[in-house]
Amino acid sequence: MRILLTGAAGFLGSHLCDHLLSDGHEVIGMDNFITGSPDNIAHLANNEKFTFYKRDVSNYIFVPGKVDGILHFASPASPNPQSKSGYFNLPIQTMKAGALGTHNCLGLARTQNARFLLASTSEIYGDPEVHPQAETYAGNVDPIGTRAVYDEAKRFAESLTMAYHRFHDVNTSIVRIFNTYGARMDLEDGRALPNFLKQALLGLPLTVYGDGGQTRSFCYVDDLVDGIAKLLYSDEHYPVNIGNPIEMTILQFAEAINKVTGNQAGIVYQEDARSERDPQRRQPDITRAGKILKWEPKVNLEEGLLRTIPFFKNKLGLV
Ligand code: UDP
Repeated sequence: MRILLTGAAGFLGSHLCDHLLSDGHEVIGMDNFITGSPDNIAHLANNEKFTFYKRDVSNYIFVPGKVDGILHFASPASPNPQSKSGYFNLPIQTMKAGALGTHNCLGLARTQNARFLLASTSEIYGDPEVHPQAETYAGNVDPIGTRAVYDEAKRFAESLTMAYHRFHDVNTSIVRIFNTYGARMDLEDGRALPNFLKQALLGLPLTVYGDGGQTRSFCYVDDLVDGIAKLLYSDEHYPVNIGNPIEMTILQFAEAINKVTGNQAGIVYQEDARSERDPQRRQPDITRAGKILKWEPKVNLEEGLLRTIPFFKNKLGLV
């Protein structure tokens, strides 16, 4: 296949480039680098099956030649209000990437008769009142909340995707991505894993927000991109959750990171640091992914952390 991937220089986008190239496809990457980094795709510079365009997908996009697949991953994605690259500080760009960017990609998919895959998110479930979250749960999102710029843009993107499928018969698919970690995460994006791993490797106490009782389920990036590729190659049109179903509190997660890194500095609680409507519980129900894609995650937390640590050490100048 000849595949267009927006957000190619992001954490997930760059891993997807690698996966799709290793599956033998030709990949056309697009990114405007507002949150992605050229470093993430630098190793592909001499790969003849990879081309790159620096573009903002919120504007009209054009790709010469036939395209068989389009994956729309471009969007700020960090919920941390302190982060410059988070969606709190890029609210309009976030809404445009989800709304106008999705529209442009769907328009291209329609003219090219291409398979389209939308990167959606567990955030469409908001602060969930149903647990774990299955694809049938419609979510609990406040349209004017500060997190809504991301949540509602992705919800709109899902609606638009289904409209193009139902009305124009475009071959669409939607992946709802849960918390994921691995090499090439932005160390400064303020999320739990980059913050904790950075702090642990520097021998600092880990900053647990609130009482640390809120839960998440963390998926190693290789497992995630494997699930996404399987969805791309399938003929499924309805949303599929991809994530690791092992739920833990943020406190347990911090303790696991201290253990794996041997950090003795412990934990410091930052009572008021949680963002508005920070979800209290989050865990994917991955029954559909198992049935439709025969997919489940394979890498456990300790193994995933051990695979991630060298990248962080390198970025921190510790090797
Ligand atoms: N969190 C934390 N300490 C940090 C960063 C995040 O306790 O230094 C918490 C945050 O409040 C949230 C959870 O970790 O409850 C996961 O946050 P993250 O930013 O990774 O993404 P989210 O799952 O909210 O999209």
